[in-house]
Amino acid sequence: MALCTAELMDGSTIQYVESDDPPTGTMKRTYFTPDRSQVVQFFIDQSAGRDPNRLARLQAIIGKYNPTIPEEKGGAKGTSATAAVYFRQLFCWPTGIVVKPHFGIVAPTYPQNFFFSDGPWEGGEKKGLWFFGSNTRKYLPESEKGSFIQYLSICLQMSRAIRRLHQAGLAHSDLSSNNVLIDPTSGRCIIIDIDSLVVPQVFPPDVLGTPGYIAPEVVSTQHLPLSDPNRNHPSIRTDLHAMAVLIYESLLKRHPLDGPKRHSVTSGEEDEILVMGAKALFIEDSNDPSNRPKDLTVPYTVLGPHLAPLIKQTFVDGLHEPFKRAHSAEWEGALNKTWDLLIPCANPSCEQKWFVFHDGIHGVCPFCGTPIANSFPILRLRKETRPGIWMNDGKVVVYHGIYLYKWHVYDHVLPGEEADRTAIAYCSLYEGKWILVNQGLSSMITDSGSRVPPGSAIELKDGQGFTFANDLHGRRVAVEMLQPAQYVGI
Ligand SMILES: [Zn+2]
Repeated sequence: MALCTAELMDGSTIQYVESDDPPTGTMKRTYFTPDRSQVVQFFIDQSAGRDPNRLARLQAIIGKYNPTIPEEKGGAKGTSATAAVYFRQLFCWPTGIVVKPHFGIVAPTYPQNFFFSDGPWEGGEKKGLWFFGSNTRKYLPESEKGSFIQYLSICLQMSRAIRRLHQAGLAHSDLSSNNVLIDPTSGRCIIIDIDSLVVPQVFPPDVLGTPGYIAPEVVSTQHLPLSDPNRNHPSIRTDLHAMAVLIYESLLKRHPLDGPKRHSVTSGEEDEILVMGAKALFIEDSNDPSNRPKDLTVPYTVLGPHLAPLIKQTFVDGLHEPFKRAHSAEWEGALNKTWDLLIPCANPSCEQKWFVFHDGIHGVCPFCGTPIANSFPILRLRKETRPGIWMNDGKVVVYHGIYLYKWHVYDHVLPGEEADRTAIAYCSLYEGKWILVNQGLSSMITDSGSRVPPGSAIELKDGQGFTFANDLHGRRVAVEMLQPAQYVGI
């Protein structure tokens, strides 16, 4: 162990602790700074340092495409200070280029919650791989498993982070369960290995991706020379495939293409290439059930009216037609709407603990079969499209302890990176009655004209209406109480 000094391209220096046995990936060796808050990573292939494309790519990633630094401080165009802080939690973004003693990068260390503190992988990174398959999940400590609401939160953050990359024209190029670390306990994720991003106008990196996440059109042309015009390279379209695989795996704990066809592969690599490439088939394709696992009991349609169409669009219509795949912004929107339909399962030993409430589940938890036993309110949101004309604009399924935010109150506020994440109201079941407690709405008013000042509450009753905020863009709400016998028609 020795304390060494690395020199950065901008002339500054950083100290790191040299060790004989540094963590080594396929591309880089990692050393920690003395306080372990940052890492200095040297590329194993040092000729990389003489590759002008790689250098140009890294400079663009650290500078003009960097969403973790505000635009006014040299970061990506349009990035506010609020957005920069938000995205710093979602990306492990490189902060500098090292030129001496070797070519490499400086990056923040992953937060501690992305390392296992217990169980068979203690000290290891929390890769999705351990959480998605039943073979590995059974070895996880209970405290690490997480429930459906936390996986939905992870998917939401991931889609927001990838939407931000795509919005700037960047592609990650190697999204996989290795490069998106997840912490189901806290419902958080972080995207790593940012240095192989595909940057506009710069020659793309020589990355194929990770098996299981490579888009079929890339798998089926991987045998062609790199310069062959028929070879498909990683792009935003291939990211959309990989991201959809990660979302499907997170929420349903299985791989969307891994069915009987893959298990029947006996003659090695060539068949594997066909099954994941030119002949790839969604395990839940309703037109061709030949790849459907026999033990599949929870169909993707349980994810509700917003996510199910995107899954079909990506794995049926867009599996071999990349331009038909759902965009990252569509996933983000659908995940946001699905968040408002979540309901806790009444069965304390249900493995998922939460599910999406909609017509198709017929009033029972789709994961454990426990029926919903109680009545509960739905808030039907309306926005004013023209003076006096109110249109339906989403709904919120109410559960005990749910919080409401500005994006529920105003029709022009989105729950994105710029959003104010202070709760403005909450609902609870109090002495047998459902109530909504106003925490921060200064002009809330019921349809009968009663003001509801901050700190006071109203009972949520069937047919009742109120306005969250009696000003421009404020939504109106119609309350509907659902009884156990009426769990259809929402
Ligand atoms: Zn359940």
